[in-house]
Amino acid sequence: MSYWYDLICMGRIRSIFWTVFMGLLSCISAPCKPMQSPASTGPGLDLTRFHRESVVDTPHLSFLDSASAAIDFGGIFHHKPAAIFRPVEAEEIAGFLRAVYMSNKLDHQVDFTVSAKGAGHSIYGQAQARAPNGLVVDMRALRGIQIHNKYADVAAGELWADVLIESLKVGLAPRSWTDYLYLTVGGTLSNAGVSGQTFRHGPQISNVLQLDIVTGTGELLNCSASENEDLFYGAMGGLGQFGIITKARIILEPAPQRVRWVRIFYNDFEQFARDQELIVSMHNGVDYLEGFMILNSEAMHSWSVGFPTAKLPNESFVQGIGSQVHFCIEIAMYFTHHGTAHMDKVVGRVMSRLSFIPSSIFSADVSYFNFLNRVHAEELNLRSSGLWDVPHPWLNMFVPRSKIHQFTSNLTQIIPRHTFKGPILIYPVLRSKWNTNMSAVLPEDNEEIFYVVGMLRSADPHCSSGTSCMDNLLLQNQEIVDISTTMSELNVDNGIAATAKQYLPYYTSESQWKNHFGSKWEMFVQRKARYDPLNVLGPGQRIFKRKTRSTTHTQ
Ligand code: FAD
Repeated sequence: MSYWYDLICMGRIRSIFWTVFMGLLSCISAPCKPMQSPASTGPGLDLTRFHRESVVDTPHLSFLDSASAAIDFGGIFHHKPAAIFRPVEAEEIAGFLRAVYMSNKLDHQVDFTVSAKGAGHSIYGQAQARAPNGLVVDMRALRGIQIHNKYADVAAGELWADVLIESLKVGLAPRSWTDYLYLTVGGTLSNAGVSGQTFRHGPQISNVLQLDIVTGTGELLNCSASENEDLFYGAMGGLGQFGIITKARIILEPAPQRVRWVRIFYNDFEQFARDQELIVSMHNGVDYLEGFMILNSEAMHSWSVGFPTAKLPNESFVQGIGSQVHFCIEIAMYFTHHGTAHMDKVVGRVMSRLSFIPSSIFSADVSYFNFLNRVHAEELNLRSSGLWDVPHPWLNMFVPRSKIHQFTSNLTQIIPRHTFKGPILIYPVLRSKWNTNMSAVLPEDNEEIFYVVGMLRSADPHCSSGTSCMDNLLLQNQEIVDISTTMSELNVDNGIAATAKQYLPYYTSESQWKNHFGSKWEMFVQRKARYDPLNVLGPGQRIFKRKTRSTTHTQ
């Protein structure tokens, strides 16, 4: 009948359940190290939630709906876990991970792996864990936002949209964002969190003061730049490998009230890149900057959905832009208590320094919330036409400045211009806004500027995993990655490797990961051994193989 039936027959569920239960007991008898933040200590584990002999779902542990954890935004991989754990307290995660770790020590031959799942907006199954040994911790159950004067303490399962809503109630807001707000705090901090504010404030991982993390051995630690700093830096961009983030202290600043949102167009890549680099060098000018490559008119249409309708370019302009490859710079400038005349003056000063196509300027004044939430309008539009839940073979890269021209020219040769669906982002950020101790991987040259490139492609609904159509799209991605990340003559300048790096990386072999991390690989491996010695965490990233007590490399 089913996988579920098979599991019962194998006695697998009971075995898993017993082991977890035993581990929970062991955690209770040797309590987990308390968090150092007083607000974060919660009640102990409630064993009445766990029914020893039963295989029936409890509010916190579910075997029956494990298929829901096999779905992500990419829609390419679908690995069902054995069970989903839904903790409401950080201490429960600590108990759970301690149980998993101890199960190995207590001679239970169960090599569990555990994946934290946030909003499940990964592309290549990074938040999945595969049955029979894979367990998923659904972080959306872990909630709570406390706003303070200069920071917010946020449970890792909260969405950035809710952090914004709560902080705006007192006139504050985080300052570094992702384009889309319905991602969890823990999920984006495990990667980096980049958007148009990154050039000014750094990625989201540069805007966090403290983290609470449960390590792979079930230890619950408070970390910051001055306490448990190795784990703090390791978890930032750490792809969920060193621990499960349960709480983050995020910097807040006074929120602006109005945003002047401007789009300008180019038909020349060099000029487009030059103007973007000029903008990032301006002080106190622009608050948000992103660039886009527009391959066809359909891309122009779909990407305009979030922009206020009255301010949109007319149809003949759209057709003109779509008839050949064009580029668009999108900027935003924030204002507080200022009238339109003042905004016109400030924006005019910036515009006068840029060389876009004359008369190709479109602008709108919107609230800060509506500006930050702009991708939601596109989501609603795509959902209404059934096009949100299609497969998304996205590819994101950080590209050295010296290679961006070559990169985009390769891109346009590899991907089919007329059938490509979705936006292509190309915008510069500044290396000095990133902390190099963090696990996030950047190009290894020394240039201050590198580019974020996002090929955010939607596939046709029938183009599912295993079809030649999907294989073809993935091959195109592979070709772009291969050309831009390998140490060829093309990518070495004066002996320095100016190779691009994947952001939200997808690799499957150790040698690929080693190449990806480059000079950070040794540190990454050491941190793994320190905080997750049995390689329990983050199996969906496919970096480390699970270790057992008796052997060093199995699974
Ligand atoms: P998941 O997909 O659930 O998890 C991602 C990874 O983090 C997994 O490996 C998971 O195991 C791990 N993880 C999750 N929670 C935790 C935790 N609490 N502790 C430790 N590890 C954890 N990214 C940007 O940087 N900028 C953007 O502008 C941007 N826009 C996007 C728009 C859309 C529509 C989508 C679908 C994605 C976008 N992303 C963007 C990518 C996004 O940041 C990542 O996919 C991120 O991982 C999604 O967060 P999530 O909560 O869905 O995480």
